[in-house]
Amino acid sequence: MKTCTENAISFTDHIISTNRDHCIVCGKCAEVCPSRASEICGKTYQPDELFKIIEKDMPFFIQSGGGVTFSGGEPLIHADYIKDIISRCKQAGIHTTIDTAGNIKTETITGIARIADLFLFDLKSMNEEIHKKWTDSSNKLILHNLSVISATGARIIIRMPLIAGINDGTDDIHDAARYISELPAMPEIIQLLPYHNIAGHKLNKLGKTDDFHGFMPPSESSIQRALGIFKQYGIAAETGA
Ligand code: SF4
Repeated sequence: MKTCTENAISFTDHIISTNRDHCIVCGKCAEVCPSRASEICGKTYQPDELFKIIEKDMPFFIQSGGGVTFSGGEPLIHADYIKDIISRCKQAGIHTTIDTAGNIKTETITGIARIADLFLFDLKSMNEEIHKKWTDSSNKLILHNLSVISATGARIIIRMPLIAGINDGTDDIHDAARYISELPAMPEIIQLLPYHNIAGHKLNKLGKTDDFHGFMPPSESSIQRALGIFKQYGIAAETGA
């Protein structure tokens, strides 16, 4: 409490809490927290610094055939930074993957498609209303971008979170399968990601328990039904993690 210049930390009824409206994320409390209950996640790196860290894993990349995956949030919000790192990786022969929700300017994603080796592309729901309700954003640009990068011949793995009662209905899956089967080029595979509550611990830590929304994992029969529907359309499908 003494360390915080913003008076963001309080102690009431034996509970220490942080007022996130006042917190400026300076990290001073994390530096002095004796039990390390408070921590700052994430660190800023210049491209040079980051690439030096990536290069250290070169022996592992060579042995495993692995590489670098740019994830987020949405990594393409920082498209120029990502392009810089991808170019360095390319020169060094390191494989690069972009994990994107695709809700980004079309010229940005096509620029990246020219240089990245693989896309992991999120497809949450074909239903515009459902998509807007749960993500606060339309799916139109996302679907357009998926089609555009598919036409460039980019390697794409589509990843679809499957949430009970939200997007695992038969009609939802048929709509997604039909759309994917009509893309300019078939993606390598669609990975269904059954919803789980792993983020619960983090949300609790951030005091964001309202973000749970009561989502539930899909049943095994719903997962199998979805896999079966994609296969009917000739789309390779599997469950991922
Ligand atoms: S990070 Fe900690 S010390 Fe800094 S403003 Fe937030 S609560 Fe205060």
